[in-house]
Amino acid sequence: MKRYNTEEDYLLISGIQHFMFCKHQWGLIHIEDAWQDNVLTFEGSLLHEKVHNPELNESRGDIYISRSVAVISHKYKIHGIIDLIEFVKDENGLYIEERQAYYRPYIVEYKRGKPKEGLEDKVQLCAQAMAFEEMQDIVLDYGYIYYFQINRRIKVSFSQQLRKTVEELINEMNVYYNKKETPKPIKMKSCRSCSFTNFCSKNFSNKNIKKYLKNVIEEIS
Ligand code: SF4
Repeated sequence: MKRYNTEEDYLLISGIQHFMFCKHQWGLIHIEDAWQDNVLTFEGSLLHEKVHNPELNESRGDIYISRSVAVISHKYKIHGIIDLIEFVKDENGLYIEERQAYYRPYIVEYKRGKPKEGLEDKVQLCAQAMAFEEMQDIVLDYGYIYYFQINRRIKVSFSQQLRKTVEELINEMNVYYNKKETPKPIKMKSCRSCSFTNFCSKNFSNKNIKKYLKNVIEEIS
């Protein structure tokens, strides 16, 4: 397999799920940076859970697995980590030099909860697939998301429609990211289940969240 270095100024693929859930929330994490540490710590603890999943230790016959595979797309300016890639021996697959054989790759993303109504998890998986495709010059038809709460994986087809949605989201994210502009908050149903609701700028009538916090700190110091 070819390998590439990541580019620091590229978008994190995992951010696409935040962007789809709420553009403002994505901006708070990925542009304002203020909460990135918390989110990354949280994601790290998820990874810890993933490592203890017995499925990750599975190895049999014509299948082998690679974990935490770094991917990057220069076309979309995104980079990230694929939790796991399952390689299944297949003469029509990808040539793996280290093994001197052909394998078909299936990417797998691990999630704590259960399948969502929205496309958040699917666009993330599809974006990872698109980056992997660009690196390896192949086309993936589908991948999987493993949900801990239901203890099984679901198949996700990388349809043209899903790919188009991913492309549109990434283009929009890149516009905000290049301008370093956090999208404005919009009150919606999802706000009730949002863990950022206490920090969200919707509560601070257009004030920049950093300015707000600076004022609070100045007042109490
Ligand atoms: S509270 Fe609502 S608007 Fe604010 S970050 Fe959360 S989902 Fe977005």
